[in-house]
Amino acid sequence: MTAADAPAASARVLAGPPAAQALLDDTARRAARLPFTPEIAIVRLGEDPASVSYVRGKDAKAKETGLNSTVHALPDATTEAELLALIGQLNTDPAVNGILVQLPLPAHINEERVLNAIDPDKDVDGFHPVNVGRLWTNTPGNVPCTPQGVMFLLRHYGIEVAGRRVVVIGRSNIVGRPMAGLLVNAHATVTVAHSRTQDLPAVTREADILIAAVGRAHFVTPDMVKPGAVVVDVGINRVERPGKKPRLLGDVHPDVAGVASALTPVPGGVGPMTIAQLLGNTVAAAERQRT
Ligand code: NAP
Repeated sequence: MTAADAPAASARVLAGPPAAQALLDDTARRAARLPFTPEIAIVRLGEDPASVSYVRGKDAKAKETGLNSTVHALPDATTEAELLALIGQLNTDPAVNGILVQLPLPAHINEERVLNAIDPDKDVDGFHPVNVGRLWTNTPGNVPCTPQGVMFLLRHYGIEVAGRRVVVIGRSNIVGRPMAGLLVNAHATVTVAHSRTQDLPAVTREADILIAAVGRAHFVTPDMVKPGAVVVDVGINRVERPGKKPRLLGDVHPDVAGVASALTPVPGGVGPMTIAQLLGNTVAAAERQRT
């Protein structure tokens, strides 16, 4: 966090790293209790620097947590048929408990077909329609990592969601929609807002807990927040600066700290929860596959 981003007032800072570490510790303990070492297979295509770096981070954290991790790094020119064949092999390999295909995929590959080819029980990203159905019917399954990580972070800091009014801004398949499903399952009263919502500030001011997953830097301003609300900032917006490293800004304006009772920072809030939850999902998948 830079000086310019320092909270203007007293909102409690809901830091991601301690919550992520608690989740990783729990995951490592559960992995150690299994009679085998849970394994994640990570598939990436091409050499996009961001994808290479994300995959390296996931692979290293998996190993640190006591999981087996195998990275399948395929050339950019891999055909969809070749990728589907690899997924077919991983689906039937009994040693593999979780499969993650790093997105985005090259333009010549149909992302939806590939994601839908993953065995839903091994789909640790939770994007398969079967897992979407399981989430919305509140039955066990794989749930997307970022919203599941937000739920862990809220629990870690003792923030009750049952019975409270929660507004989620954003309805993507990766964050907004699964976030809403998890909150409903946890007995919150949930509103999902999006770009067609009318009078958004009036809607967001109803929230005891406001979750921003918009993808626009500093979009949520103090006038949109009920005094004392808990605000979770999922946004990660790269702001390029000539000659310098890009800045990472959240969806929430730092001045919101003057109105909210608690706020997740960016960076160092929701971000660290995502990898931790991916490993949590892999161990949970291994536990379910065992029974
Ligand atoms: P997305 O697919 O672009 O979805 C953005 C959502 O925001 C859409 O539902 C959109 O509404 C809504 N929106 C856009 N402009 C709006 C406006 N003016 N008023 C109200 N709603 C508006 O993005 P995403 O994948 O969900 O990601 C959201 C943010 O979270 C991004 O900054 C992303 O980088 C970050 N993210 C962080 C993590 C992490 O690990 N922390 C993980 C994933 C994503 P419509 O549906 O109407 O278009």
